[in-house]
Amino acid sequence: MSGPAAAPAPPRRLFRDGRLFDGRRFVAATDLRTGADGRIRELGTGLRPEPGEEQVELHGRWLLPGLVDCHVHFREPGLERKEGYATGSLGALHGGVTSVLEIQNNPPLLVTRALQEQKLSGRAGISRVDYGCYVNLVAEALPELAAMAARAPAAKCFLGCSTGMGGVDDPALLRRLFAAAAAARLRVVAHCEDDAVMARAQAGLSGAQALRHERNRPPEAEIESIRGALAAAAQAGAGLHVFHVSTAEGARLVAAAAAAGQAASASTAPHYLLLTAEDAAAAPQNRLKVNPAIKSAEDRAGLLELLEHGRIACVGTDHAPHPLSEKARDYRQAPSGFPSVDLLLPLMLAVVDRFRLSLERALAAVTGDAAAEFRLAHKGRLAAGADADLVVADPGATRVVDEARLPSRSKWSPYHGWTLRAFPERVFLRGHEVFRDGAAVGPPRGRALH
Ligand SMILES: [Zn+2]
Repeated sequence: MSGPAAAPAPPRRLFRDGRLFDGRRFVAATDLRTGADGRIRELGTGLRPEPGEEQVELHGRWLLPGLVDCHVHFREPGLERKEGYATGSLGALHGGVTSVLEIQNNPPLLVTRALQEQKLSGRAGISRVDYGCYVNLVAEALPELAAMAARAPAAKCFLGCSTGMGGVDDPALLRRLFAAAAAARLRVVAHCEDDAVMARAQAGLSGAQALRHERNRPPEAEIESIRGALAAAAQAGAGLHVFHVSTAEGARLVAAAAAAGQAASASTAPHYLLLTAEDAAAAPQNRLKVNPAIKSAEDRAGLLELLEHGRIACVGTDHAPHPLSEKARDYRQAPSGFPSVDLLLPLMLAVVDRFRLSLERALAAVTGDAAAEFRLAHKGRLAAGADADLVVADPGATRVVDEARLPSRSKWSPYHGWTLRAFPERVFLRGHEVFRDGAAVGPPRGRALH
């Protein structure tokens, strides 16, 4: 009896003369050895080549753990015209990302074990990065929530929204959902914006203000929703991670709850660290229309400060592609979100270069800290035994972003024309080279993470 043919083992490699970032900090070691099992064997300095080993001379370039993006939308199955795992995962490699945690926010939502299984097994042979998929925390998911827990990084809840796409605006239902997640030992990951607060804000808007996204979705909508989510999670005994926090006050509320002993944490997204509401209002074609809305320079400064001190756990892109033809509609009709996974590593460097965020914190937020936050024990680290997910990048090499050349499907970017640095040159997934000089190498090798 024999099972399916085993995947060929990756070459054993010795990376030499690099600047190694271990997921938390740059380390003294300059060399790293990987094994035929696709794992890191050792770090050191002056490591001697072994017979049969392929040598990679880094000439002082960075060697980083593959990035972990905890929040992407690849829209497969169901909305492949907007993205898909083939294009989305190649975009991820372009951004230095080797693991994604993905949210299905178009039908079919992941609400049964069968749909979850189809989602996970159906991406094998398509995805070029390892992937985990949140289940959708909606009423329809309750009967099989516990059965889905083992293969899910967490359960995604859209708080305070009544769109039907996984949104929950009924407090009683919210309590039931959080209690069910706690019983299933699933952490809740949440989009927090309160519909009622937004409706009140919108009722008072007129003229040009009515076309300002951050006036339609004001800071209080996020802050109030986070307050409610923290209370509901505490009451239910559910762990809570608040995604893409855009306000300093919202992030402070989560940090204060965590400091008081609650199992609560938060992440933010590159655009909240790089841009302001003024930038968003000036961008053509609603390119920076995103939910939550991009807020003030004061909010940006507060988020940077909290991230620097580890009170925001990590950064995920919220890669949410739409065709530019849809974004270019009138403000009210234009969908929210934009592609960004293609640029994650260079964007984190842009945060460092433009604002007060240390290099090591910026890198840790998308490697070691992101992996630790989502309990991916073998990811995000350069350490013996960890997966040999590796990124080679030259921090001194700059490039102007050309949206037409980005791999993900939309072929536009709000960062078009920006000069960024440290674009990944080579990327390895579990020891296999999967990306080099802007192009995929070899077949798709991505696997389900859970
Ligand atoms: Zn999202």
